[in-house]
Amino acid sequence: MDLNDTPEQAAYREKVRGWLEQHRADAPEARATRAGAEDAEYLAARRAWQGRLAEGGLAGVTWPEEFGGQGLGPIEQVIVNQELARAGVPGILDVIGIGMLGPCLIAHGTDEQKGRYLGPMLHGDEVWCQLFSEPAAGSDLAAVQTRARREDDGAFVLNGQKVWTTNAQFASYGLLLARTNPDVPKHKGMTMFLVPMDAPGITVRGLRQISGEAEFNEVFFDDVRVPAEYVVGGVDNGWGTALTVLMYERVTIGLGSEGMGYRPDRFAKALASDPSAVKDKSVRKALGEIGTELLALRFASYRTLSALAQGQIPGPEAGLAKVTTVNAAIAAGDLIADVLGPDALDEDNEWSYMISFLPGLKSAGGTEAILRNTIGERVLGLPPEPRLDKGIPFSELRAKEKEGSAA
Ligand SMILES: Cc1cc2nc3c(=O)[nH]c(=O)nc-3n(C[C@H](O)[C@H](O)[C@H](O)COP(=O)(O)OP(=O)(O)OC[C@H]3O[C@@H](n4cnc5c(N)ncnc54)[C@H](O)[C@@H]3O)c2cc1C
Repeated sequence: MDLNDTPEQAAYREKVRGWLEQHRADAPEARATRAGAEDAEYLAARRAWQGRLAEGGLAGVTWPEEFGGQGLGPIEQVIVNQELARAGVPGILDVIGIGMLGPCLIAHGTDEQKGRYLGPMLHGDEVWCQLFSEPAAGSDLAAVQTRARREDDGAFVLNGQKVWTTNAQFASYGLLLARTNPDVPKHKGMTMFLVPMDAPGITVRGLRQISGEAEFNEVFFDDVRVPAEYVVGGVDNGWGTALTVLMYERVTIGLGSEGMGYRPDRFAKALASDPSAVKDKSVRKALGEIGTELLALRFASYRTLSALAQGQIPGPEAGLAKVTTVNAAIAAGDLIADVLGPDALDEDNEWSYMISFLPGLKSAGGTEAILRNTIGERVLGLPPEPRLDKGIPFSELRAKEKEGSAA
């Protein structure tokens, strides 16, 4: 494939660059942390900036035009990401909403849901969160235990707990995966709901990370009532709906490494602040290896982009982009910490957030072990993992586990 911009892409890039030059003065500062999650003034500025980006056609680039997007392809989205990074301004605040949950509503939502929720999501007026993971359902997401009980009037009552819910502390809505039928095998009895985060019975508690920020939360549901109109994608059809979100999540994280600033030239500049490190062969070798990994990733990402541009769904190998990004950035963080010493972990140091946040990113969006299992099974054709819970109703799984452990 040709890796340069086509004339149309070059013209689009010029247009995006021109808009950003004209409006960059209105942008809040780009902070090293994810969103400045606890600074209300900064968050308000980021939401307003998302609104400006939406008006300028720089948010929801791949969303269909009828929902306020640009109806363009993933390559144009990458061009926008690159130009935002070049201009040194932040991108959209609600990456989870616009990148993952909005596309899920577009694919599975009713006309009423699309008409009501997509516009405010796009403009940053209503931020969304992803209420999937639970204390005992992360890698094995189909093990969710949050229950949705149907009432005689058709409404549902939610009870349970979610965890690691990014942005729940300021989200207006969440997309929640709950169990509606425990008497069928675990992938079959789940349903996706949209949930207003201010509904009675919802408690949000922040979880503080080693990076100092509290970006994600535990969320408790105690008899939370939602009407039947809040079901997304059909009752007991939640696994299929969740897979749409997970597919977009994989692509959003995997293709986002440049936007996250994980670039060899930046790492080299940091290391060059110590002249003896520049001469140290082992430092140069380690930096060379990191650069090679990131370069290979860039070319692999072009392949994913080509597939997306041709309307294909990227294969499971796209998950490796995340593994490579995270491992290369962790190696770079270790190298920078070795060379700069403890100063690299000072709160004000530009690298401290990356170094302390990355171990968490190893888990987010699928852990390395899970992604490697997927590659083994679906790309390399290795024998699948034993799945003892296959075909067994969810409600009987615990009993089977106990029988197994007694044996
Ligand atoms: C920064 C961050 C943001 C997040 N944001 C959200 C969010 O907004 N919404 C949300 O719903 N979730 C969110 N998550 C949760 C994330 O999706 C989970 O952390 C992830 O799915 C892993 O699940 P777990 O943490 O329960 O780990 P577990 O699944 O318990 O895994 C623990 C360890 O066991 C290994 N393991 C598990 N199963 C296997 C297996 N079959 N084979 C080999 N090894 C295995 C894993 O690789 C891992 O090392 C976020 C996580 C992070 C770190």
